[in-house]
Amino acid sequence: MQLIDSHCHFDFDAFDADRAQVWQQCREAGVERLVIPGVSVDRWPALFALVEKEPAWHAAVGLHPWWVAESELEPAQLQRQIAAQVATNPCVAIGECGLDGAIVTPLEEQEPLFRAQLALAEELGLPLIVHACRCHSEMLRLLKEYRPGRGGVIHAFSGSEEIARAYWKLGFYLGAGGTITYERAAKTRRAFAAVPLEAVLLESDAPDMPVQGHQGQRNSPARLPLIAAALAELRGVPVETIAAQTSHNTEILFSL
Ligand SMILES: [Zn+2]
Repeated sequence: MQLIDSHCHFDFDAFDADRAQVWQQCREAGVERLVIPGVSVDRWPALFALVEKEPAWHAAVGLHPWWVAESELEPAQLQRQIAAQVATNPCVAIGECGLDGAIVTPLEEQEPLFRAQLALAEELGLPLIVHACRCHSEMLRLLKEYRPGRGGVIHAFSGSEEIARAYWKLGFYLGAGGTITYERAAKTRRAFAAVPLEAVLLESDAPDMPVQGHQGQRNSPARLPLIAAALAELRGVPVETIAAQTSHNTEILFSL
């Protein structure tokens, strides 16, 4: 079984002490490749330095909504900075970018920088890694407005089957993460049981989003098989089917 973690913050400090060991655990667990999104201008150089060490690690470059407040960049400046990174580094997507309705920074402040990244993805012909938290109607409105040609992924998707299908119709895959391992996440579990498997990517979002049974611990990409197993159970198919199709989907989206 070969799995790809489509969203993992493996560049974060949380892995500084034992990154090589965690990567070894990943490979023992069948997690053979990682997509590592960029979150802030300050962190991009270290991310690109990291992925240079291992061909199975792929970087994306973007400004995450949580880092919008400290960035002090105008949308056009952000576009220039991202474009400069894409021109000089191997880069599989624009992101992590998006909107978050659950943080102090108002959506009106986040939106211009997200729009800048939506427009740039289209211009550069790259897919998007989208963070959409408590903002599905605004997000769908923006994606319908821009219709980015390479599409992208709604990472850590949480929501109804109807919303999931609306994203897929716009060319956006749905990232299945630790949420689906919790029985209380009934709506999201129903959505992932019902959408076409061709629309689903697997992700750990490590070090965040703990898998059920591991709350309070640092999450690890080596736990991706638990998410694959949860999805297999929800859909009533062998875990090998989940692994093969989601890996294929991830390769197609990011041209791996
Ligand atoms: Zn993330």
